[in-house]
Order: sequence, then structure tokens, then C-alpha cells
Amino acid sequence: DTTLSPLAVPEERDVESSLRPKRLSEFVGQARVREQLQLVLEGAMRRGSPPDHVLLSGPPGLGKTSLSMIIAAELGSAIRITSGPALERAGDLAAMLSNLLEGDVLFIDEIHRIARPAEEMLYLAMEDFRVDVVVGKGPGATSIPLDIAPFTLVGATTRSGMLTGPLRDRFGFTAHMEFYEPHELEQVLTRSAVILGVDLRPDGAAEIASRSRGTPRIANRLLRRVRDYAEVRANGAVTREVAHSALAVYDVDELGLDRLDRAVLGALVRSFGGGPVGISTLAVAVGEESTTVEEVCEPYLVRAGMLARTPRGRVATAAAWQHLGLRAPGDAPG
Ligand code: ATP
Repeated sequence: DTTLSPLAVPEERDVESSLRPKRLSEFVGQARVREQLQLVLEGAMRRGSPPDHVLLSGPPGLGKTSLSMIIAAELGSAIRITSGPALERAGDLAAMLSNLLEGDVLFIDEIHRIARPAEEMLYLAMEDFRVDVVVGKGPGATSIPLDIAPFTLVGATTRSGMLTGPLRDRFGFTAHMEFYEPHELEQVLTRSAVILGVDLRPDGAAEIASRSRGTPRIANRLLRRVRDYAEVRANGAVTREVAHSALAVYDVDELGLDRLDRAVLGALVRSFGGGPVGISTLAVAVGEESTTVEEVCEPYLVRAGMLARTPRGRVATAAAWQHLGLRAPGDAPG
């Protein structure tokens, strides 16, 4: 079930792009990042040169792709989009780089997954706007230096810790994207409702926002699910009551936990006495892949204060016991 997944889903590509903010002024939240970025872009435009390379780091679904497109739009530049896994061979990257026009933005999503030879090519490209193209093989191979147009690289990563030092150092500006506050998600939802033609009432927006795990992608998805419910079972208006009933159908609880999150917490407290227990043991207990538990459930459970990571394993917090309607060991009865 992808209802609460922060990851992009191929079927949602079109609707997501219709909901993307196009300019910095339309981009909700991330006030610090927005202000810093605005200075970087304006400074560069005044100097008439491309801005520093930008690294956008943060969990999935917070708007990194949107922001990269906004950077290009604000600069009045074209954007070329690729991703780390697509750049397996250095030749693929060389072809992209040599096709860039002056001032273009090159967006590399999941840049932490770029293959080593392509990464090394990127160093020179970022620093000197040059690539060394190797011609031939073996001892007779020669490397031909090729100038490329000055461009701005925008890299996005959900794992900035996995970036090598030399790559990280070549970004002049790093933006750390944070989870959104509920009131910011309400603004995202209000804007999306206008675009989608949904009659979203303020209390309905607040109800959806509070269950969206701080993530605009999830908020927009819940809005579409709730709209279906409102149209089929109610008069189309998304009020608090309608949102509440709709989200119950989709198994999204008041804290934005879904069935799997609750299963993980349930196993942790019921089968393992609250922990500590290793992530793979926990994953087996709920019949899920451990990467899903680790990358999808855990970050939000930690953020919601339900789960703690300790050197000996995962531990349920008092809030987790309480959320499941259970009493933590050692809690006074009553
Ligand atoms: P991923 O890395 O998983 O692709 P991402 O961080 O690049 O995720 P986006 O694809 O940019 O995220 O955004 C996901 C959706 O959330 C888009 O449809 C976009 O409209 C919406 N969104 C993200 N951030 C904002 C924002 N600040 N204001 C309004 N909508 C937003």
C-alpha cells in the first residue's frame, strides 16, 4: 500500500507535475532554504554568471525536484534532468555535459548513487567546466580535454552522508530540506485544491495536514483520496468530518501512521517487550523487507517520538505504548 509512502509513484507523475510550484514565491515552507537560495540566485544574476552548484538534501517527497525546476525558472535557464543510477557510464555523463548550453541547469537526482567514473568526471566539470574524454582503450588510449559551457549543477540526495567528500566539497551551497509543519502543509493543500478544483474547507485541510507525515507528496495524495470519498459518499465538500471518515477507510490514523507502522510498533511492544530489537528481526516479525521498515516506517516513527534507535536496537517509547492503548512496563497503573 502506497498511501503513506513518501516515494514517487510512476502513475502519479502527471498529477504531481501539475501540482508543482513553478516559482520560488509559490514554494510553500522551507523559509530558510528559500531565503538563502534567493540570495544565491539573485547574486549570480547580478553578476551575470551561473550561480554556485547547489546540493538539495533531505527525505523524499519534500520538494527537491520542484526546487531544482524553480532554480532553472528563476534563472530563466533550461533544465536537463537525470539521476545518479542513470549515469552508470562516464560516457553517458560526458554526452550530457557536452550538450549543455551556457547557464543551463543540470539536475542529478539521487546523486549519491552515481557510479565512480562518472563522479570523477563531474569533479572537473564542476570545477573547471571541462571534461576529459578518453578515446581508445589500453596503452594507446588518450584523453582529450573538452571545454563545456558554464552551467549549474543541482544535485538531490536523500542520503547526504553517502556522498564522498570531494563531491560534497564542490557544491557551493547546500540546502537541508526539513519536514513541513502542519500549517505549511495546509497551505500546500489549499493551493493543490484550487488546481484540482476540490472544495477543500479549512478544517478539512487541517485534518489532512496533520496526518501527512510532514511531507507534501503525501499531503497531495491524501487530498486526492479524500476527494474521491467526498464525491462518492458526501456532497463533494472536504470538511473535517469527511476527511476523518475517508482517512479511516484508508487506514491512516490520527498521527499519520498506517497499518504497517502500527504492526511494527505492535510487534515491538507485544513480541519484544518494547525492545531493544534489531531492525531485521522486527521486519521478519511483520513480514516486511527490512529496507521498507528502515527507510519508510522508521524515519517517521522516530520523528513522531514513537521509536528510538539505540546502539542495541530499536526501542518503543512511552508514547508508542500509549498510542497502542497499552501500558508501558514500569508505568504506574491507572
Ligand atoms: P523525490 O526525491 O522522491 O522525487 P522530491 O523531494 O523531489 O521527491 P517533489 O517531486 O519535488 O519532491 O515534490 C513532490 C510533490 O510535492 C510535488 O507534486 C509537489 O507539487 C509537491 N510539493 C513539494 N514541495 C512543495 C512545496 N514546498 N509547495 C507546494 N508543493 C510542494
